[in-house]
Amino acid sequence: MGRGGYNGEGVLTDPDVEGSSIMLVIFGIRVSEDVLGVVRYVCETCGQEGAHQVLRRRRRFTLFFVPLFSVGTTYVDVCTWCARSRELSQQQAELATRELR
Ligand SMILES: [Zn+2]
Repeated sequence: MGRGGYNGEGVLTDPDVEGSSIMLVIFGIRVSEDVLGVVRYVCETCGQEGAHQVLRRRRRFTLFFVPLFSVGTTYVDVCTWCARSRELSQQQAELATRELR
C-alpha cells in the first residue's frame, strides 16, 4: 500500500560545456506513505472519538527517477475527522500499531 509522488525535482547542467557534450542530471525527492495502522481514540483537537491513521513517510533521494537511498523517515498520526496531524517517534508508532498485527 502506498502513494507516491515527486516534489522537488531538479535539473543540473554543467555550465562549462564545450562543444556538444552536455551533462544532464535529473534528481529529486520521492515521498511515499504507508499506513501502518488505524487507532481509535478521542482527538484532542476536534473532540471526536475517531479513527487516527498512523502513517510512515519515507523520503528517498532519486536520480533519474530511481530511488537510491533514504533521506529521512517520519511517523505521523492523522485524525480522520479534522485532519490534524502530529509527528510521532518510531517507538510511538510501533507501540500504537503493535496490537493490530
Ligand atoms: Zn480530530
